[in-house]
Amino acid sequence: MNIKQFLFFAAVGSLVSCDQAPEKQEKQIMTGGIELSNMNTEVKPGNDFFEYANGGWLKANPMPEEYSRYGAFEVLGKKNQEQIKSMVEEISAMTDVEAGSPQQQIRDYYNAGMDTALIEELGMEPIKPILAEIENMTAENMVELQAKMNFQGSYPLFAVFGSQDDKNSSEVIVQLVQGGIGLPDRDYYTRDDERTAKIRTEYVDHMTKIFLLAGEEQTVAEAKAKSVMAFETQLAELSMTMLERRDPNATYNIYSLEKLTTEAPNYNYAAYFKALNVTKTDVINVRQTKFILGMSDLIMNTDITILKNYFAWNILNSNAGNLNDAFVQQNFYFYSTVLSGVDKMKPRWKRMISSTNGNLGDPVGKIYVEKYFPASSKERMVELVANLKVAFEESINNLEWMGAETKVKAQEKLAAITVKVGYPNTWVDYTSVSIDPKQYLQNNWNCSAFGYQRNLDKIGKPVDREEWGMTPQTINAYYSPNMNEIVFPAAILQPPFFDAEADDAVNYGAIGVVIGHEMSHGFDDQGRLYDKDGNLNEWWTAEDSEKFKVETTKLVAQYNAYSILDTLHVDGELTLGENIADNGGLFIAYNALQKSYTDGTPEPIEGLTSDQRFLIAYAQLWRQHIRPKTLMRRLQEDVHSPGDARVNGGVVNTPWFYTAFDVKEGDANYVTPESRIKIW
Ligand SMILES: [Zn+2]
Repeated sequence: MNIKQFLFFAAVGSLVSCDQAPEKQEKQIMTGGIELSNMNTEVKPGNDFFEYANGGWLKANPMPEEYSRYGAFEVLGKKNQEQIKSMVEEISAMTDVEAGSPQQQIRDYYNAGMDTALIEELGMEPIKPILAEIENMTAENMVELQAKMNFQGSYPLFAVFGSQDDKNSSEVIVQLVQGGIGLPDRDYYTRDDERTAKIRTEYVDHMTKIFLLAGEEQTVAEAKAKSVMAFETQLAELSMTMLERRDPNATYNIYSLEKLTTEAPNYNYAAYFKALNVTKTDVINVRQTKFILGMSDLIMNTDITILKNYFAWNILNSNAGNLNDAFVQQNFYFYSTVLSGVDKMKPRWKRMISSTNGNLGDPVGKIYVEKYFPASSKERMVELVANLKVAFEESINNLEWMGAETKVKAQEKLAAITVKVGYPNTWVDYTSVSIDPKQYLQNNWNCSAFGYQRNLDKIGKPVDREEWGMTPQTINAYYSPNMNEIVFPAAILQPPFFDAEADDAVNYGAIGVVIGHEMSHGFDDQGRLYDKDGNLNEWWTAEDSEKFKVETTKLVAQYNAYSILDTLHVDGELTLGENIADNGGLFIAYNALQKSYTDGTPEPIEGLTSDQRFLIAYAQLWRQHIRPKTLMRRLQEDVHSPGDARVNGGVVNTPWFYTAFDVKEGDANYVTPESRIKIW
């Protein structure tokens, strides 16, 4: 499990789930809004709006071999990668780089990663000491070793981190979270369909191969792999499903260390917190009680030999991508080819740029915004957000299903939303992170330790409202319910999301809907449970809560009906929050656009009306190719609907889709006026 997800996305609604490392730019990104050649006008918009708006682009831009999906986000990612690479090259040419400076760290981290001769020569050497410690592990010192592994970026069993108290959002408290499995989600261990069973077989095979590479005999490697699989299956059985974890009340269970010790007596939490040097343990949120309490008994009933195999697997697994080529290839084969259907690995320089970016986010970000982020983009965004807020306010006033009392509270919450655009006011000081051009693996551990320590240091302290949960070079946006804020990193303020050269209809349809999407997260099925101060607190009347559920149940049914790949369907419940955000984003951005037309609706541009341009601009954001295996994964693991469902599912609920494109009964995407859903 990836700790960065814990640290930054604990309870956050983002625009998109990213797994792709960006790479080289091949094609100029369009300017001026809508390029007609990106469309496929052979298709009737009422039959498949996604294809109508994007068919030309999809045909002209086939999926590159090294991608699991490829669309607007990935194309921008490639540009990003080029920019960061040119930064690294510039720095490498500098003669007077100071030790501990961002320039020194970026240059040496990247160069260490590119020194494959040395990485091959060292082979397993860098991880031998920790593996030896695991070999000598006892039931008594296990927790200390676990804590040590946490600082290296490896999280066996579960994870501890600091984040805002859901019911006292001004304080940062300890959070205990389920984890410790090597497959992407607990359902991979429990489902009995053919695809999942095959993935399990492949996973055991993969573990065996990694143990072989680590120097074990065939029979020993096989036995170890099987024992890890059996142990992880027990962890999975104790775990909450993705859907269960979407309920913030179910994941809010306050314990003191004392109570935790009483209820989970077979795991030494006191010693573990001591090893992490976490002292503020009177308020601990046990996010998954069944898991955290159950694990205590599981540990007691598991032979120490099996725990050693499992801990060793955790070290090997979390470092395999950073070891010598044989490990890198095997790791790629399982996690990218078997799970996501990608056969070709990106060239090393691209992977190392991603890795530099991921590990030295702030040092890279600081230089990135100085070079690539125009101040004018920020001003325009602040203005757009203000316009969207006014439209949202009006929309709340006009809601038919919500009563007056709840409306007052909703307006208070909307007014309290804060906004961050571009990059943080203060940068994280990375000076203390030691980066050595000859120690690639150790560099990664140093970055992990720094990030983890920074997180743990927040526990027991008031929340830092200046902090960002994404770096400025991230192509994404988010809403944080505890902060009640929306955040737009610099990198998303580029075409096709934000285009200084484009007309308002295009910008409201693209970045405007993104802004509305993030605002709507404050009022989606999860976000609505938090009040204006970011606390989990019922501010709705019971009647209005019920009415909200009636409306959103319709949206669940709408998305459940989207079948993708024959028998597989979108999971309308899992994706509900995101679908509410898309629905809200479209309505609010459209209303804001209409309000901006003080002199009447403008003339068509290139034969497209304002309404048409708005909807096409929205659809362009979600153009993408996706590999079938990746799609299958995402239907199960991603809270966002696939791109085509986001487009078609979004537009069919808006009345202006029907008028703008003359969509009539009989068209495949036609929905009767009374069945169209408007939540916000
Ligand atoms: Zn979202």
